[in-house]
Amino acid sequence: MCMSNPFNPAARQCRPLFFLMAIATITFSDVKAQSKNPYSYQDLSQLFYGKQKDSIKKNWSCPALYTDKNTQKKYKEIWDSRTDFITGAMENNNYVFQQDIYNYLSGIIEDIVKKNSKLIPGKPILLIDRSAAANAYAIGGNMIVVNLGLLSFAKYREDIAFVIAHELSHNIFNHADNFMKEKAQWLTSDEYKNSLNAVLDSKYERFSRLKKVFEGYSFNRSKHQRYHESDADSLAIVLLKQSNIPFDASFFLRLDSSDIQYKQPLQKPVKEYFTAYSLPFEDWWTQKRSKGLSTKNYNFRDTTGLQDSLKTHPECKDRYAKSLSLSDINAQHTAVPASIQETANKMLIWNMYDNMSLTACLYRILLEKDKGNTDSWYDFMLHNIFAGLYYNDRQLHRFNAISVTPKEYISQNYYELQNMLEQIPRETLEQYYKGLMNQGFWQHQTADAKGLKNFMSTMILDPTDSDKVKAVAAKEFLTSYSTSMYCEFAEHFKKK
Ligand SMILES: [Zn+2]
Repeated sequence: MCMSNPFNPAARQCRPLFFLMAIATITFSDVKAQSKNPYSYQDLSQLFYGKQKDSIKKNWSCPALYTDKNTQKKYKEIWDSRTDFITGAMENNNYVFQQDIYNYLSGIIEDIVKKNSKLIPGKPILLIDRSAAANAYAIGGNMIVVNLGLLSFAKYREDIAFVIAHELSHNIFNHADNFMKEKAQWLTSDEYKNSLNAVLDSKYERFSRLKKVFEGYSFNRSKHQRYHESDADSLAIVLLKQSNIPFDASFFLRLDSSDIQYKQPLQKPVKEYFTAYSLPFEDWWTQKRSKGLSTKNYNFRDTTGLQDSLKTHPECKDRYAKSLSLSDINAQHTAVPASIQETANKMLIWNMYDNMSLTACLYRILLEKDKGNTDSWYDFMLHNIFAGLYYNDRQLHRFNAISVTPKEYISQNYYELQNMLEQIPRETLEQYYKGLMNQGFWQHQTADAKGLKNFMSTMILDPTDSDKVKAVAAKEFLTSYSTSMYCEFAEHFKKK
């Protein structure tokens, strides 16, 4: 796992990438009542792992490996940047502790660790990353991180078990640790210094020659990483067999499609999702009128896949072919519990909202409607989307809030929604916002959801648009609903 493409919308929030790149580059109708929130504000990593953060800083001290001063110094720099990455991500609330998901993943980890005690000395520290990418990562230090996106994407417990075993294998092989050593050695090697000096001595084309030095290094890196990936796959299969967890190579084929989540079409025309709330709709909103990126010749119908270079998980077909013979063909598979998937999904949708990726957020909500999900929480989130868009329009940030995704990754319907959010006139946007404020679904909402509605309306309808009014309203929300997961949103307006 862990190889990812930065331009992929599913991977966009894949923060480990920053670490990897940093070390790879040198320097209605019948509405169900809403259930309780999946987590509280205090479960976000900044607060939940407050103490753990300090103990990581203390315990992850760089070993003295090199007699050469410069190499040791470089090694320590790289080592500390890894610690900073993980503690920084904790501070940034990139992780969340959600009890049910944690227990579910812990159960899988225990099954594997118990039966492989010779290879895995102790139970690793498990973190849950809020990224939507169907991925997981290991950065050494007996820690593994699983993304919410994997829980919402994977079909079977065995799929998740494989991904976890793959990450445990990276740690068993010390891949992250070895990489840090290799990098420190290379950056302080004579070979590196000489090639750098040769570039600096040359009068011409310094930049392109410099690039070549770096590219040579990252080429070796990615070739290396490919071996690491296939080593981790092989050992993962061994770990699973040892734990009596069946392995199914066709998981790789499913994983191959994890990037085309936004390529699936909706079941109904876009219009019908909105007229269901008695909201107005005009077809021209969904058609791009302005200039800019031309989609005239673009064929959204080709949903067969993406080029490998655009994928979060390249080489899935190779990985499938390599491991097919090791598949347990007749094994029974256990579906990921629907409640776990729903929890992960809600958390992802909320996270996308809080990051103001409104199109992706809206699209995921409509996909839930397509599944026949009648949980009124999704109606509440639809309200939030139009409240957020209306607010951002006033702040002249509408375009940012839509968070445009390149057409290679999306379906015709996604493109239409994106256009709609961009082009719907301001007056109609106001109609949408106000229309959604007065719907039957509100009676099923939790107190903090209703509180968030009031907070938003204070901000949006304040004629003076003053930061002070916003800050007061935010503080009021934070005091009244101090454990609500929605506090995260109110926090943005507190400091201003
Ligand atoms: Zn991997």
